[in-house]
Amino acid sequence: MSLGFELLGNDGLARRGRITTAHGTVETPAFMPVGTAGTVKAMTPQAVAETGTEIVLGNTFHLMLRPGAERVAKQGGLHKFMNWPGPILTDSGGFQVMSLAELRKLDADGVTFRSSVDGTTHRLTPERSIEIQLLLDADITMSFDECTTWPVEEPAAASSMRLSMKWAERGRSAFLERKGYGLFGIVQGSVFPALREESAKALTGIGFDGYAIGGLAVGEGKELMFSILDTTLPQLPAGRPRYLMGVGRPADIVGAVKRGIDMFDCVMPTRAARTAQAFTRRGELNLRNARHRDDPRPIDEHCACPACRNHSRAYLHHLIRSEEILGAMLLTWHNVHYYQDIMRGLRGAIETGSLGHWIAAFEAEQGREDIPPL
Ligand SMILES: [Zn+2]
Repeated sequence: MSLGFELLGNDGLARRGRITTAHGTVETPAFMPVGTAGTVKAMTPQAVAETGTEIVLGNTFHLMLRPGAERVAKQGGLHKFMNWPGPILTDSGGFQVMSLAELRKLDADGVTFRSSVDGTTHRLTPERSIEIQLLLDADITMSFDECTTWPVEEPAAASSMRLSMKWAERGRSAFLERKGYGLFGIVQGSVFPALREESAKALTGIGFDGYAIGGLAVGEGKELMFSILDTTLPQLPAGRPRYLMGVGRPADIVGAVKRGIDMFDCVMPTRAARTAQAFTRRGELNLRNARHRDDPRPIDEHCACPACRNHSRAYLHHLIRSEEILGAMLLTWHNVHYYQDIMRGLRGAIETGSLGHWIAAFEAEQGREDIPPL
């Protein structure tokens, strides 16, 4: 296998592991901030690294349209282009082409669509998606798949999943094997356990460096998502990393780690920060709210991020009300730091076999309201 994965320990079904890539190691369970267009929005790469982030996600769809994958390759690849020397995972473009592209036309071979940037016509096939991710120099490449809609009837979910499995096989053939680089397959099948099983079997039959669970967190609800994980994860090989795509809120991540997921990505901490929302030990709060106007205390006195170490709620509230860019920067830093605090806590708890206690304490704290106003 070209991508290293070591399973360092277990606590119940939860796993503590280490992925070794061409650009460094990733301790798992890991959270990957989303760097859509070659940047984790409102953060410098140095700030991202200071939160404890070891791997970021880049978006094939956005980067192929602007500035273009060939242009990034000419600049030495995405690591050099964005000055992120660490590991990078790129998505395949499948999700965005279905949700964002204009005038898209799906056929058995791929998708043709029009760029929302300049109106030009583009085509994504399993082979072109793999090629773009190679040009970007992604340590972890994702299979190109058709994103199943939600809600969906079982026959439609089945044909969508089977198309994705054909594309996964084509992508595997197109992928260039190199040491420290890997290709992940994506299990589809919506909320139907039999389809998930068929998909997992098809992918493990082809053989991938890691396995992602796609098509969840699309509106099915947390309980249904967890039940799909409960039935799907035992069908994946224990010796390879497992990635739950697009998840999620802190409680979703904790519940999925408990079930055996190793990797996550989500726009939640960065996107919410730009609407003044902070994630904390004691749940979520919005700094735009007038109750913070005269509050000299930090967002969370136990948080070691610069927003909490150096600034008051009153100042952050002022920045947000004044639409100052620094407000979004500091809140993004806090949210990503808090997400990485959760991952550090989960990894430590799995190592010491105390995950049950850690989750009980996490849930008790999340259940408390924000600190009362002064
Ligand atoms: Zn903080």
